[in-house]
Amino acid sequence: MVRVAPPARARKLAKVPFVELADGRLHGVVSSGSDVERVYVSSVTAGSHAVNCSTNNNRPCGGLRGSMLCKHLHALADEAVLQYGVEQVAGYLRVDVGDGVSGGAELLARTDARHEPGPAAVVFSRFLRHLAYLEVPPSGAAVPELHWFPATAGVR
Ligand SMILES: [Zn+2]
Repeated sequence: MVRVAPPARARKLAKVPFVELADGRLHGVVSSGSDVERVYVSSVTAGSHAVNCSTNNNRPCGGLRGSMLCKHLHALADEAVLQYGVEQVAGYLRVDVGDGVSGGAELLARTDARHEPGPAAVVFSRFLRHLAYLEVPPSGAAVPELHWFPATAGVR
């Protein structure tokens, strides 16, 4: 369980609208550079460092071949480092960063990443759930699923 916290640094939401450390993976949704209708679902599994990248309708990413990682995985790792900080991402994925790395690409370079089909549909549905909360109309009423956010923790 990773604590929900404000990003360590401002993120580029248009490029990587969703990034999460959950279910033993770093995963997220990365916009296509060329087609606004298309997004990629990218993931890195903790421990094994198996990577996957495919479109939201499950087509394999053309940029991910053998040990060559696609730009989506790099964008995902960069955004994860901005969101969580490099130590938390490296710790979660169990990457030995030795004397430290400066960004997501360097972090991925320390893994022996290999391609393995991943649960893109599961990740994508988590993204859609996440989006649904952004569309909840602002009101004073409590949203039951959000009750665990510690908004009133200091008020008691
Ligand atoms: Zn890709």
